[in-house]
Amino acid sequence: MTIAIVFTVLLALIGSLRYPWWKPAVPITLPRILMYHMICEPVPGARFNGLRVSPQQLERQLAWLRRHGWQFRFLSDVLSADAVRQPGSEKVCVITFDDGYADNLHSALPILQRHGAVATLYLVQHRHDNDWSVKKKQHHDEGELAREPKLTDAEVETLLASGCFELGGHSATHADFSKLDPATRRAEIVESKSALERRFGVPLQTYAYPFGIYDSLDVALVREAGFLGAVTTRPGISRDLQTERFELKRVKVSGKKGQLIFRLGMRMGWRTWV
Ligand SMILES: [Zn+2]
Repeated sequence: MTIAIVFTVLLALIGSLRYPWWKPAVPITLPRILMYHMICEPVPGARFNGLRVSPQQLERQLAWLRRHGWQFRFLSDVLSADAVRQPGSEKVCVITFDDGYADNLHSALPILQRHGAVATLYLVQHRHDNDWSVKKKQHHDEGELAREPKLTDAEVETLLASGCFELGGHSATHADFSKLDPATRRAEIVESKSALERRFGVPLQTYAYPFGIYDSLDVALVREAGFLGAVTTRPGISRDLQTERFELKRVKVSGKKGQLIFRLGMRMGWRTWV
């Protein structure tokens, strides 16, 4: 009995350190930028199920956001000169999808539409037959993400025509930029921006660093390419959009976590130090 109590207390303590619910909430007028990848059911035994948020989870999350007064905005609107100069009093939430998975159209779009939500899509230019997992870690060679269907250009056009999506840059090949020379980095950022703008006839106004790997050179290149700002994979909620606009934090939404963790993420960015 005593062991059970000690064990429970210990678990609660570890849980509270990992998810610091007791910390004060980040002011609600600071925009939350949510990071999603796929909207689909988990695959039994798969490595990347954290990236798979089920349609039911997304439905529940958006319903909760709407019920609690969060307004959905494109990141480019949040970073526009006027918005940064005169931060509003409303609660703003930016939804982002990385990479360009086909389920963003087939599963996410109807849910976004039902809740009046919009999202920024960070599209890899050469996303087909591209196993980018191995570029970060060589032993991630199961081809799991490479097998996931990606959006065709026609499907991207459908997403854009819906009015629910804006397009952002995510490089040409989803390379690990720490392994690239400066000229290749520039080409990955600049050429994919102009190629996608030409192909889809819309401006790419914000950028997401592939794997969240970047350094000061990449920041300079993204700025120079004419982007308004960029998102990272650093967890949290940025405090100052002006000074942090090229290194914005995001709240990672994981398919492996429940609604309570999602709400904690909205409150404080979660996993602040453990
Ligand atoms: Zn990515």
